[in-house]
Amino acid sequence: MAQPYGRCQHCGERLYAHIEGGYQCLNCDRRYTEADFESRAT
Ligand SMILES: [Zn+2]
Repeated sequence: MAQPYGRCQHCGERLYAHIEGGYQCLNCDRRYTEADFESRAT
């Protein structure tokens, strides 16, 4: 299931969970890993 997770740092669109893990932006096709967000989570 794909659920919005954060925002794309490139275009600002919402990110969705990728089937292979991590997250992707459906607008500009950028990929993000969970590690990209862990540093921001307090
Ligand atoms: Zn994007």
